[in-house]
Amino acid sequence: MAVTQAIPMTRHPYADGSYKKMLIDGQWIDAASGKRFETHNPATGELLATVAEGDGEDINRAVAAARRAFEGPWSKVKPYERQGLLLKLADLVEKNFEELSQLDTVDMGAPISRTRGNRLRVLGMLRYYAGQATALHGETIENSLPGDIFSYTLKEPVGVVGAIIPWNGPLAATVWKIGPAIATGCTVVLKPAEEAPLTSLRLAELCMEAGVPPGVVNVVPGYGETAGAALASHPDVDKVAFTGSHITGQSIIRASAGNLKRVSLELGGKSPDIVFADADLDAAVPGAAMAVFANSGQICSAGTRLFVEQKVYDEFVSRVAEFGKKLQVGNGLDPNTQIGPLVSQQQMDRVSDYLDIGQKEGARAVAGGGRLTEGALAKGYFVQPTVFANVQDNMRIAQEEIFGPVISAISFEDTDELVKRANATTFGLGSGVWTTNVSKAHQVAKALRAGSVWVNCYQTMDPAVPFGGYKMSGYGRESGKQHVEEYLNVKAVWIKTA
Ligand code: ADP
Repeated sequence: MAVTQAIPMTRHPYADGSYKKMLIDGQWIDAASGKRFETHNPATGELLATVAEGDGEDINRAVAAARRAFEGPWSKVKPYERQGLLLKLADLVEKNFEELSQLDTVDMGAPISRTRGNRLRVLGMLRYYAGQATALHGETIENSLPGDIFSYTLKEPVGVVGAIIPWNGPLAATVWKIGPAIATGCTVVLKPAEEAPLTSLRLAELCMEAGVPPGVVNVVPGYGETAGAALASHPDVDKVAFTGSHITGQSIIRASAGNLKRVSLELGGKSPDIVFADADLDAAVPGAAMAVFANSGQICSAGTRLFVEQKVYDEFVSRVAEFGKKLQVGNGLDPNTQIGPLVSQQQMDRVSDYLDIGQKEGARAVAGGGRLTEGALAKGYFVQPTVFANVQDNMRIAQEEIFGPVISAISFEDTDELVKRANATTFGLGSGVWTTNVSKAHQVAKALRAGSVWVNCYQTMDPAVPFGGYKMSGYGRESGKQHVEEYLNVKAVWIKTA
């Protein structure tokens, strides 16, 4: 495996070790408690910033500001103006994209090639939601009642949205929550992940620069058990849009029960990626490898259960292993880096545990299998891209979400049996099928119980195409028209006309 050297970095202008406040009601303020927490670069351990640490009191203030804005001037802002704000924000994000990419890279570790590569998606999202802002409409519906009664629906913004996001793609995750809120006329209190809060704060600055009115977008950094839990249980929050682990998702649902707020959840996965013997293996090898190794495996829809048809299993798995061994692992700021660090010590410990568990369960690591600690890498949270062969369906490494660069390669023979095995997971987020047989592709795509099926590709995303989970991967959809609907209420109006 090639190891890129951690290059000396010039200090990021935003991540220069300084103190960052939170944004409430258009004002940059300290936490009510005065507390702060630190955020570090997971590749080097370097301190990037201290950040105001919000808790319940700050969430109260932010929700009150969001409520005032929602019921006040923001409710009078026309769709065309909301569209204009999103387009202005998109232009500002475009202008500052390099800075935002680097900020994601230093705060959570992803290679700069990846964070730069998000450009089309991030800008596309903002402009897609801008388009949606002027495309919202109810319907007139013919009813069968006697007499003359006219019935129609209004689509209304759901209200104050609590957005809670993880650290694995802060820029895209922030845009994914703020975009539909502005488009529909909602207001937002966003809590970024404690591991990587900086891009959300910088994006909030750009929202202010774009002219988003005070209180419409509020960002309260802090920890999950304090700030996050306060947002999820807040009686004046109308909806929670959450992305994160299924365990936290379950506590969000419990916390939401007090006022029965709307909830949308984008949770974890243990997605099957299926390679048939008739696949174009030259495309499937890098495709299946990067379906897991991209972002060091820290993607909820990563194709971590690699099902390979018996006939090509040995050849395919060894080619994926060779591919994994050649990946350049290192500091994400180095343009040659393909695999960055994991986000935190905690995440590295968790992944390392699973590497041990896999060996103990009898799987064979044909690539990787341990940490990387040589040279400058010793300061970061680096793990080798790992391929486990001889994995059985019931092993923990085949059932539990690892959230690291770990492939569990499983063999199959019969297609019907395969579909049952692929679906035998509590999750249902992503899935992949590699085949040149178009009928088989359709059959398997239909049979898989997952929110996305990628055929001869993996992890493609588009602002217009819905993304979300089946089963314990959550409910609700992000991107596409369904996403906008998540932020709207439907009101039926009946008018007796005669
Ligand atoms: P991950 O494993 O991806 O970090 P988490 O579900 O732990 O997933 O975290 C995702 C987001 O949820 C983070 O912003 C985190 O602070 C927040 N969070 C964690 N616990 C809670 C909780 N009990 N209530 C609300 N938010 C939480």
